[in-house]
Amino acid sequence: MVEPTWRFIIEWMVLPHEGHMHGVKRVIYSGRTEYQQVDIVETYLFGKCLFLDGKLQSSEHDERIYHEALVHPAMMTHPEPRRVLIVGGGEGATAREVLRYPSVERVVMVDIDRELVELCKRYMPEWNQGAFDDPRLELVIGDGRKYVEETDEMFDVAILDLTDPIPGTPSVLLYTREFYGLVRRRLRSGGVAVTQATSLRFSLETFAKIRNAVASAFPLARSYTAPVISFISFWGFVLGSLGRDPLSVSGGEIRERIASLKGELEFYNEDAHRLMFRIPKSISEKADRVSEVPTDTNPAFAPP
Ligand code: SAM
Repeated sequence: MVEPTWRFIIEWMVLPHEGHMHGVKRVIYSGRTEYQQVDIVETYLFGKCLFLDGKLQSSEHDERIYHEALVHPAMMTHPEPRRVLIVGGGEGATAREVLRYPSVERVVMVDIDRELVELCKRYMPEWNQGAFDDPRLELVIGDGRKYVEETDEMFDVAILDLTDPIPGTPSVLLYTREFYGLVRRRLRSGGVAVTQATSLRFSLETFAKIRNAVASAFPLARSYTAPVISFISFWGFVLGSLGRDPLSVSGGEIRERIASLKGELEFYNEDAHRLMFRIPKSISEKADRVSEVPTDTNPAFAPP
């Protein structure tokens, strides 16, 4: 028998046309930081979930799919990533995935919201699994755009795990041609960058614009997708490379490198790697009709 639930979080996918009702079993934390409304709740279907400004960021049910899909294609595209930049990623799960690599010597994670990071550490330790205590990780609290503009540090891989570019939120200028140009300048030869790129179902135009922006800043750009069911959508990602093409990385290399990682992966393997870069025709044709390149003065927005 299904237990009746009378409390819901309504997550708007496209306000006010489409939303997702999440039945709430238990509210773990609810409050506002300087930057965003934070709700950590246990839902009936997806377990523990983090919502920021009412948008689901990751759920216990499939956060591993999202974070593995975000991190591993870029890390595998680089032959030997030693220095990694993460922008955003407050839950600490992106850092967790990066720190699995024995070749990684240093990770700088820049998130704007100190209070959110503390809340994630306290209420969602399953996500970071000790990543914040790893001596290879330096946590910087600050605006990722400003950090990338001002640092003179160079990286092999940059991973952009930011909230969607919703009007009025602090991530909007981290999805522009100028920003990806700045990220590129911080990459050593053969460097790789990747960004989450919103929903293929609810914000396909935003996804296509982000792809165009990455393609305008990098010699090679590839978009890909992974099934993140709690987002009720195939999720979009875009990778920019100064070196290898992710499609040229062999299955054998992926298998061998996965065997050297710390811990077990749940989703990513050589088959997932190939499959993710195959975007269905019905979606890619629509995305290919979008030619706009988001800039600082004319950024891409995701629906509120
Ligand atoms: N998985 C998510 C999604 O699908 O949208 C992204 C998750 S992660 C929680 C997003 C992080 O981006 C948050 O921790 C937030 O504080 C951070 N963030 C937003 N704007 C930022 C900025 N300008 N600089 C650094 N971090 C930022």
